Amino acid sequence: MPTATKTQLNLSAPVTTLPRVGPSVATKLARLGIQTLRDLILYWPRTWLDMSVVTPIKAVQTDQFALIQGTLHDITLERRTGSRAVRVQATVRDEAGSELAVLWFGQAYLATSLVEGRSYFLAGTVKWDWHRKRRYLASPTRETGLGVVAIYSETEGLTSRFLRGLIQPLLVDLNLPDPLPQQATPQISPGVSSDSPGVYLRLTQAVQSIHHPTTFAEAFRAKERLAYDEHLLLQLGLARQRQKQLTTPAFSIPPSIDAIKRLVTSLPFTLTDAQRRAAWDLIQHLQSVHQTHQLLQGDVGSGKTVVALLVALSVLESGYHVTWMVPTQLLARQLHERIGQLLTKTKHQAVLVMQGEESVETRQPTLFVGTHALLSRGPARAGDSSPVSTWPSQGGEVNSPSSSEVPPAFSTGRGRPVGLAIIDEQQRFGVVQREAARTSPHDRQPHVLTMTATPIPRSLALAILDEQSLVTLKGKPTHQLPIITKRARSRAEVIEHLKGSTQRGEQAFVVVPRIDKQSDRLFAQSIESVAASYRKGLPGVTLVVLHGQQSSDEQATILDQFSHGAIAILVATTVVEVGVDVPAATVMVIEEADRFGLAQLHQLRGRIGRGTGQGTCYLLSDVRDEQIEARLGALLETNDGFVLAQRDLELRGPGELLGTLQAGLPDLKLASLDDTLMVEQARQQAEEWLKDLPKQLEAWLTLYQQGTSR
Ligand code: ADP
Ligand code: MG
Repeated sequence: MPTATKTQLNLSAPVTTLPRVGPSVATKLARLGIQTLRDLILYWPRTWLDMSVVTPIKAVQTDQFALIQGTLHDITLERRTGSRAVRVQATVRDEAGSELAVLWFGQAYLATSLVEGRSYFLAGTVKWDWHRKRRYLASPTRETGLGVVAIYSETEGLTSRFLRGLIQPLLVDLNLPDPLPQQATPQISPGVSSDSPGVYLRLTQAVQSIHHPTTFAEAFRAKERLAYDEHLLLQLGLARQRQKQLTTPAFSIPPSIDAIKRLVTSLPFTLTDAQRRAAWDLIQHLQSVHQTHQLLQGDVGSGKTVVALLVALSVLESGYHVTWMVPTQLLARQLHERIGQLLTKTKHQAVLVMQGEESVETRQPTLFVGTHALLSRGPARAGDSSPVSTWPSQGGEVNSPSSSEVPPAFSTGRGRPVGLAIIDEQQRFGVVQREAARTSPHDRQPHVLTMTATPIPRSLALAILDEQSLVTLKGKPTHQLPIITKRARSRAEVIEHLKGSTQRGEQAFVVVPRIDKQSDRLFAQSIESVAASYRKGLPGVTLVVLHGQQSSDEQATILDQFSHGAIAILVATTVVEVGVDVPAATVMVIEEADRFGLAQLHQLRGRIGRGTGQGTCYLLSDVRDEQIEARLGALLETNDGFVLAQRDLELRGPGELLGTLQAGLPDLKLASLDDTLMVEQARQQAEEWLKDLPKQLEAWLTLYQQGTSR
């Protein structure tokens, strides 16, 4: 045991300064993200087990945890012939005289260190041995048999017992910075079953107790305090962003009612009430003299484009440019064409900004449509407002540069500034790009309108957005048959369906995932081999491959042919995920569906059933895994994007979603966004702290590595 000293623990010290940590253990710890003593004490247990109640052997159940107290007998070391695998076998006999087999795998030293006839506390999971038709205790740990113990996510040969051994000595003289007032918040949060509800533990005690509680109640109170800290960090980050936004000047845009009315009457369709309401909500807020960030969410096909166009029109009428950023070149062309047509009834024009283009000079207020080529090299943004370094962007982005890439310079000409930056299909952009799109070199910043077909789950929206910044477009303007989603057992089953549908003149997508780090050549091979397999099963059917390595002209030609019906089946990457609108497409086949996230699968499914034909979506996957089954199962159950968003949040946790929404928000490991009371309490506390920085705040932020309060 290291001697307890009164000197303050240096939390930044590497774990190798600990007596039991050599290079090999350090490597294993690094895989858990633990490099310093700080990381170690902030490595929360996964759960706790009660090591004070002994299970009688008679009462053990297969696949359940048990703490057995008994004497060990018949300890033998077994070596399998022809293999280096060893196992130690024994029998444990408890007070009542019942016996249970015990097996340790690969720990040969136990054969000599365990003592015949001595009493042990053994904790582990009871398993069923199919071979010998009996139960056994699998690789149990030897415990002291006292109290509640912390169980950590164990990997790479680091046991919970070992981690406890590293962490607990560090807790002895712990003294952590704690910005919460000593007399903790007197607010009562119902549903918290602790002796003094609503009063949080001091941080130091919470950290001590989460690793080494004496009762479950104590562990839960510790967890509650640490969850509150996560909420506080989140709300503090948000409060700072709000504060900054409230002080960022922007152009006040009055609603141009007449121009809007003219455009609305010239549309080839009648706006739905939902579209009118959404457009009005958005337009009204642009009157603010401070920058607004509005989010328009609505399912695939809900008609967001025209809503955004009405908002854009107001800005153009006020004499400012508008930029409209979409994730792919293909989509930029399509959108430019569509919007250009609609704008012919106004005095404004849409200009397509191509990749590499540095500037476009126009006299008139102009709507610029493009990909990230639109990003201007404004003052550095990402990072300066964010308390931590930028989050990694969501996977599966296509045709967009990595987040670290410097945005190319694009200028909308001298003089006329950008009044509104629209970011379409925002879920497909990295956070840095979205930040950059909001930045203009002018003194005043553009208002920002982001659009997403991936709804924000309600609890998340409540926790991180203010009410007026989220506008939801409900329903769809056109009546469509709900898409039927199926798990296909084999490609052959899908091909059978395609034989029928292609004969009826219906078109189909087959989407093939690109595996991480796969080379262009390998990927081209794999997508070609998938295409070949479909060609073989469907002789005489025109089938063409489309992917991001083809030139954008080539892609546009293929897509054009597909939308005119000259191609029956398109075997494609996720380039078709957004924006492709082909009414005669009725079948969506998703190969290796397990590689996609829920939101992405829903988006892909949204590509079909846009016409009158019945849409069918086939999910192909050979992988058997609980998480994947849950994800694909959710898709079979519902077509509702909002329900799926909620399921996605439950399955993935808030961290990833938060990261895709905004840069610099901390992860939530213990906190739940459903705890609305705690969210509200943290929000109030964070606002107070911004007005009056408490003494320990800096140190506390440093502890959580969340930068400084400025
Ligand atoms: P998304 O919300 O996915 O961006 P779009 O704006 O692309 O959806 O609209 C999907 C389709 O619905 C487009 O073909 C568009 O022309 C059409 N649409 C939009 N609004 C209406 C409406 N009010 N009535 C009929 N069709 C509409
Ligand atoms: Mg759209």
